[in-house]
Amino acid sequence: MKNEIVFLGRIGELSLKGGNRKDFEERLVQNARLFLEGSKASVRLSAGRLYIRCPEEKQDDAVFALSHLTGLAGWARVRTAEKTAQAVTAAVLAEAEKAAAAGYKTFKIEARRADKTFPWNSFEIARETGAAVFQAGILAVDVHRPDVVIMVEIRDQALVYGTENEAPRGLPCGTGGRGLLLLSGGIDSPVAGYRMICRGMKVDSLYFHSHPFTSPEARKKVEDLAAILAAYNIGGHLNVVSFTEVQRRIKMRCPEAFTTVILRICMMKTAARLAAQIGSQAIITGESLGQVASQTMENMAVVNGYAPLPVLRPLIGMDKEEITATAKKIGSYGISILPYEDCCVIFSPKHPVLKAKADAAASILQDADLDPLLDEALAAREHLRISRFGKML
Ligand code: ATP
Ligand code: MG
Repeated sequence: MKNEIVFLGRIGELSLKGGNRKDFEERLVQNARLFLEGSKASVRLSAGRLYIRCPEEKQDDAVFALSHLTGLAGWARVRTAEKTAQAVTAAVLAEAEKAAAAGYKTFKIEARRADKTFPWNSFEIARETGAAVFQAGILAVDVHRPDVVIMVEIRDQALVYGTENEAPRGLPCGTGGRGLLLLSGGIDSPVAGYRMICRGMKVDSLYFHSHPFTSPEARKKVEDLAAILAAYNIGGHLNVVSFTEVQRRIKMRCPEAFTTVILRICMMKTAARLAAQIGSQAIITGESLGQVASQTMENMAVVNGYAPLPVLRPLIGMDKEEITATAKKIGSYGISILPYEDCCVIFSPKHPVLKAKADAAASILQDADLDPLLDEALAAREHLRISRFGKML
């Protein structure tokens, strides 16, 4: 292929898999191919490395794919060279220059020679090209703890690569079942969804709004957050359910201190019903123990009583700073801190109950007769599809 660009992805945790490693690898390749569908790109996995070869005009798509493919630990653009000592040395020098420009000081070379007709063996490749870099004064040698490892592989072509870009790690999306994420406009829930996608789960989202008490901007935030997740999730579904009538009834019929817990129960019941309809095996929330009034152990336990399927809370033991760091990394933070609230202050109690009792919650719930409203709300849900490139379809 003329003007072909080659990328290489390094697999992470799935390299530790045993007999079923093939299934994980196949899914990774399949996911990568989806990003490059319709182009002349080739995607291949060999010896724990994912190779993407694509025409120059598709390189942005390839970079997007590599930065969003869960199951990859890192990726690099590869220099290809003719299989001559001179061409390989020139490629290594160019890679060393790139590393120096990125601020790296020390290096070592690792070489692999699959094609034994190449004049140097692996040791000689490392020694000769390493000497060239050192003598040119580009980087200093450090074989124990180098800033950058420049890899040379002699295969059907010579491949040279060094500085690695970050990938999400974890396991390929689609290898870990299906989950339904309760997605709000806050900082936490997008991170919770991302964490589960990184464990291989395919994640659909569900958002409750209370229009006109919540604004269209608040909803737009959630759509933008769902779009970020859709890239890691290789496409996504956002379900939008109006809870306006549910919130009104809760405010009218429930003691003020209980309104938050009752609302959470309503969300849980509705999510469980949707999960059953769309085949989700778990519900995911962005709760973190003790972070706010609704996230005490007692209140979460009461709400959990209304979940007939597992509730996953990947952030439960995480600190706000750790959560924020991940939100910044995936680009959701800037959207989450926009000032549009996803729940209206008129529905928020001044003194929410911190240690709700299951019996009390059950009898309040029964008196409020909310089930018919939940059914109506779910039946009227909107369903948005998002492409793997984060575009609304
Ligand atoms: P977040 O930052 O994710 O909004 P939070 O710190 O604001 O979380 P809560 O408002 O107590 O905490 O929400 C706890 C969890 O409940 C959220 O992480 C999310 O999973 C779910 N949730 C809250 N509000 C909504 C909503 N409007 N639609 C869907 N899920 C919601
Ligand atoms: Mg919130």
